[in-house]
Amino acid sequence: MTAVLEHVADMTRSRDRGQVDASLLTALMDLLPLRRARLWRVLGEPGGQRSWLQAGHHEVGLLLPCVDPLAEAPEPLPYAALPRHVACFEQVAAIAQDPVAGHGVLLPMASEREVEGVVELALERPLDGELLRVAQTVLRIHRNFLNLIDYSERDTLTGLLNRKSFDETFLRATAMEATRIYGNGSTGPEGERRGAARRHWLGVVDIDHFKQVNDQHGHLIGDEVLLLVARLMRSTFRYDDRLYRFGGEEFVVLLTAPDDAAAGVAFERLRANLEAYTFPRVGRITASVGFSDVRPGDTPQAAFERADRAVYHAKQNGRNQVRSQLELVAAGLLDETGSVGDIELF
Ligand code: GH3
Ligand code: MG
Ligand code: MG
Repeated sequence: MTAVLEHVADMTRSRDRGQVDASLLTALMDLLPLRRARLWRVLGEPGGQRSWLQAGHHEVGLLLPCVDPLAEAPEPLPYAALPRHVACFEQVAAIAQDPVAGHGVLLPMASEREVEGVVELALERPLDGELLRVAQTVLRIHRNFLNLIDYSERDTLTGLLNRKSFDETFLRATAMEATRIYGNGSTGPEGERRGAARRHWLGVVDIDHFKQVNDQHGHLIGDEVLLLVARLMRSTFRYDDRLYRFGGEEFVVLLTAPDDAAAGVAFERLRANLEAYTFPRVGRITASVGFSDVRPGDTPQAAFERADRAVYHAKQNGRNQVRSQLELVAAGLLDETGSVGDIELF
């Protein structure tokens, strides 16, 4: 009983999803006769293409569970590659993982909105009804707590992350930039390549002439457009890219890419997808995007302002385009500090 309560206290100590997931795995390992516990999340929208991402792994002999979605980017598995996991996920029911061995069980991991994934338990002996209830109760506490985190970190209209949660993630990204440049990244070409692949970029997406949408169709239709833009963003970017709504019709994306050109390609894909999409009732909508590299010691405000200056440039030069702050500065079209000639822009 005390052990269970201690794990509940541990699980609800941090607001970091990775840490909450890690505590869940530690709790399950401790409370049940497990050899291994894995956490799988389902990626992709219902009805669209889906896949499995292993979001955590803990096993006997490992001191700490491996969970850090920001630091590592494991490759997702095809949805159909794990048929029993699919059954557990879609039926929202506990499923014996391997009836031959008899000692594995899959449990659905649900959230308020939908089922999020599956917890895979490898056991030393069969799980009896009492222990199964312990596992399910721990999972319920985990779900309730994640719902609370969601509520405080997400925008209620679009479900994207809100501005408040931006600062925290951003500081983790800059800490990583600092170790990338000053840490022991000089361990040969392989180390450099992997380090370089984790560079962070911040993009600001501002819908073009959005005021007209509201004026012509009303605020409600305007809100529907924002919802659809958020959905397009989710299907355009990678699962580990961070998507925020900064209020109004302004969105922010924090992603990793090896260089300026690769980041530009990702943002260009969003611009093109938006332009190609037909919004019901409203028709065509475009957006202007500006992006900047994230630098060691950056503040969220400074990085945002650099990207926003590139947006401003895009707006001045015809809208519906992606502009890189680094490139604009290199071309002499933008000043690093935000002033062009004698004119202060911000
Ligand atoms: P630009 O191309 O220069 O960006 O033109 P714009 O009309 O989009 O200009 P701006 O970004 O300054 O205007 C934003 C408008 O977005 C103002 C307001 O009518 C609308 N807006 C802001 N927040 C919301 C919201 O939550 N819902 C809806 N429906 N509209 C919003
Ligand atoms: Mg705006
Ligand atoms: Mg706008």
